Amino acid sequence: TGELMKGKKGLIMGVANSNSIAWGIASQLAAQGAELAFTYLGEGLERRVRPLAESVGAKLLIQADVTDDASMDAAFAELEKEFGTIDFVVHSVAFANKDELKGSFVDNTTRDSFLLAMNISAFSFVDVAKRSAKLMPNGGSMITLTYLGSERVIPNYNTMGVAKAALEAATRYIARDLGPKGIRVNAISAGAMRTLSLAGIAGGRGLHSKSAQFSLIKEETSMEGVAGAALWLCSDLGRSTTGEVVHVDAGFHAVGLPDDMEG
Ligand code: NAD
Repeated sequence: TGELMKGKKGLIMGVANSNSIAWGIASQLAAQGAELAFTYLGEGLERRVRPLAESVGAKLLIQADVTDDASMDAAFAELEKEFGTIDFVVHSVAFANKDELKGSFVDNTTRDSFLLAMNISAFSFVDVAKRSAKLMPNGGSMITLTYLGSERVIPNYNTMGVAKAALEAATRYIARDLGPKGIRVNAISAGAMRTLSLAGIAGGRGLHSKSAQFSLIKEETSMEGVAGAALWLCSDLGRSTTGEVVHVDAGFHAVGLPDDMEG
């Protein structure tokens, strides 16, 4: 615990359960004195998210579906009513149909599923940034979560890799537009972590264990590491960093071929 986020208020989007990256980040920010509001996707999730939100004394817990303008309007209206202004937003939201997260990208990708993944996983950050910027008259920090599958071919990541590439490019364009307003915009490229989302990818377990095995520091990506990067970027310590994609993946992104060429 500490006071790096004392006096700062912000929104956390994307907690589904206690394994969610958004939750790891939220608890770290709260431990440093941040005041938090949470959005969650649907009623089914409230049962899991409410106790978590309450455990960090959250002021607000709102349902919001990023594909639904009416629900986003309502959520941000409530946020403005309760908080007035905010200092940071954490966008930790993504989705693609399971059918597309396996096998041949070129054969399995359909127009509808492709557009759905793009809508939820990339466009939603543009929309969230636009809405959040209106609540940041004193500047602020926005972060989103991405994955290496945007830059390199990762088996079965397919459509989501293309959506993450769009998300990272969007991060840079949003950072340009909002920079003059004192708003910094960054993406954290996390290594494979055991969450609900990972379970949706064919071979997700293998992806997790192999990533740890082949990483530079030979360990899995920790929630502490990812949350620590989020704390740096959301606090004033990150004041000179924007338009950046920060890899927090035990160095896996830097590996060309694993040491053990026999294996
Ligand atoms: P998660 O399943 O816990 O979180 C994903 C969240 O997205 C859930 O809370 C879900 O409710 C939300 N969501 C999906 N569709 C939505 C919609 N229409 N409206 C609002 N919310 C919606 O899994 P996670 O691994 O914590 O994923 C969080 C982010 O981290 C995602 O962007 C994911 O791609 C990214 N990421 C995950 C890993 C990993 O290995 N787990 C690695 C790098 C990046």
